Amino acid sequence: MSMNNQGRPSAPVETDAVALRETFTGNKALAMEEPLIFEVGRNDVCGVDLEEPADVPFALGGHARKEALDLPALTEPEAMRHYVRLSSKNYAIDAGLYPLGSCTMKHNPRLNEKMARLPGFADVHPLQPLSTVPGAIDLIAELGHWLVTMTGMSAVAMSPKAGAHGELCGMMAIKAAHKAAGRDPKIVLVPESAHGTNPATAALLGYKVVAVAARADGTVDPSEVVARIGEHEGDIAGIMLTNPNTCGLFERDIIAIAEAIHAANGYFYCDGANFNAIVGKARPGDLGVDAMHINLHKTFSTQHGGGGPGAGPVVLSERLAPFAPLPFLRKDGDTTTWVENESELKDGEKPFGRMTAFHGQMGMYVRALAYMKSHGADGLRQASEDAVLNANYVRVGLQDLMSLPFGERWCMHEVLFDDSFLKDTGVTTLDFAKAMIDEGYHPMTMYFPLVVHGAMLIEPTESESRSSLDLFVATMRDLVMSAKKGETDRFAGAPFHAPRARLDETRAARKPILKWERPDPREVEPQAAAE
Ligand SMILES: *Cc1c(COP(=O)(O)O)cnc(C)c1O
Repeated sequence: MSMNNQGRPSAPVETDAVALRETFTGNKALAMEEPLIFEVGRNDVCGVDLEEPADVPFALGGHARKEALDLPALTEPEAMRHYVRLSSKNYAIDAGLYPLGSCTMKHNPRLNEKMARLPGFADVHPLQPLSTVPGAIDLIAELGHWLVTMTGMSAVAMSPKAGAHGELCGMMAIKAAHKAAGRDPKIVLVPESAHGTNPATAALLGYKVVAVAARADGTVDPSEVVARIGEHEGDIAGIMLTNPNTCGLFERDIIAIAEAIHAANGYFYCDGANFNAIVGKARPGDLGVDAMHINLHKTFSTQHGGGGPGAGPVVLSERLAPFAPLPFLRKDGDTTTWVENESELKDGEKPFGRMTAFHGQMGMYVRALAYMKSHGADGLRQASEDAVLNANYVRVGLQDLMSLPFGERWCMHEVLFDDSFLKDTGVTTLDFAKAMIDEGYHPMTMYFPLVVHGAMLIEPTESESRSSLDLFVATMRDLVMSAKKGETDRFAGAPFHAPRARLDETRAARKPILKWERPDPREVEPQAAAE
């Protein structure tokens, strides 16, 4: 019988018979199977009771539908159970440690949720006249003020809806600035370790992407940048660089890189997705950055939620500020002004257009500002320090067993291992990740960044306590030692305890089945239908 660490029995005797026992329902205790809503729904029930309206003239004439509408109908408790069960199938930061590097899955304090649900914020409609929502506009302006202050920049475009959208916004500002100066350069430099959205953004705007190789320590060498500039003299639009980079390392030569780009008439776009490692410690504006998006959903709490909604405001340097898309926030000394329409533009302001029809993600703004105000400047700095401390705690706890591609040096908010420690164990990187699921952990980011073989990028974030990190490190050590002992059974075929194991991911991506078809009742054997 297994015991938990307080000595209480935690599981029945594990025999094959127990592990393999099938249940009548297909449920495994509280882990319930859940069919599609189309399969549980039927046509003859309704979640609400409404009386048949009497004597209402029928206005549809001959256009009324002839057959019943084939939508799944459920009673209220059935609908409730369906969605609650589905929600419990999600691994979430509220369920356990979520070490996905580069994604920053950090705790979203519930205070933020409470603020975002205040009716004055939650119920604003994008088409309401501005005069009816001055508080919402003030909130966006105040958030923008915090963002330009923390980054040491001149302006901010609040409306981009995600990091990648912010990249597009910043690069469009750069393109507009070149155009205004009568230039039309064609090249954007992108380090090899960059997030895929960087080269994609540049390519989308018609730029040619030239890769910059990393040096042996995982950072960008300014002399490489100078060499690439030399090869494309006079044709450099800018560089897109992430700092801290996707290997979790601070680009220590960032100022030299910025100077080289500026000397070549280019602009420095910084991918700010990792700003959560340096808030309160370094201001991108002081490092020569011209444009940077900030993923509010990575740095300033707020949830990611299935790929969105996030928010990706873009801060701009003095040189790029004139090209900020409407609506934007203008900073003059200590005052900030919200610029909504072309009629409010000052001399020299030449917005490149608009990124979105409206102002952006209101709920994200409220959460981000609530997060900032409840932390205060010192609290935000401490969150960055704790994020870096936690990543290094994990690094030190694992570096004797796992392999660090760039040696035992300080990392920033995330620690990157490669898979050379698995060499000759018969366990693949993917097997290792899948075995983590059996232990109740979402795997770390796998196979990214591409510059490292079998990358495993771990970001614990500041939200994890020391005891939670200790358990994670102990679990990882146990898995590594098991792999090194040749216990391949624990890995090949894992996860064993998840309701679904290895899915055919390639087929799911290439031939997704996105449509549910009602099975023909004549073709379904009663027995098979019950399964
Ligand atoms: C997450 C991330 C992005 C993209 O941000 P989204 O909000 O997901 O569009 C870009 N670059 C880096 C380094 C990231 O980690």
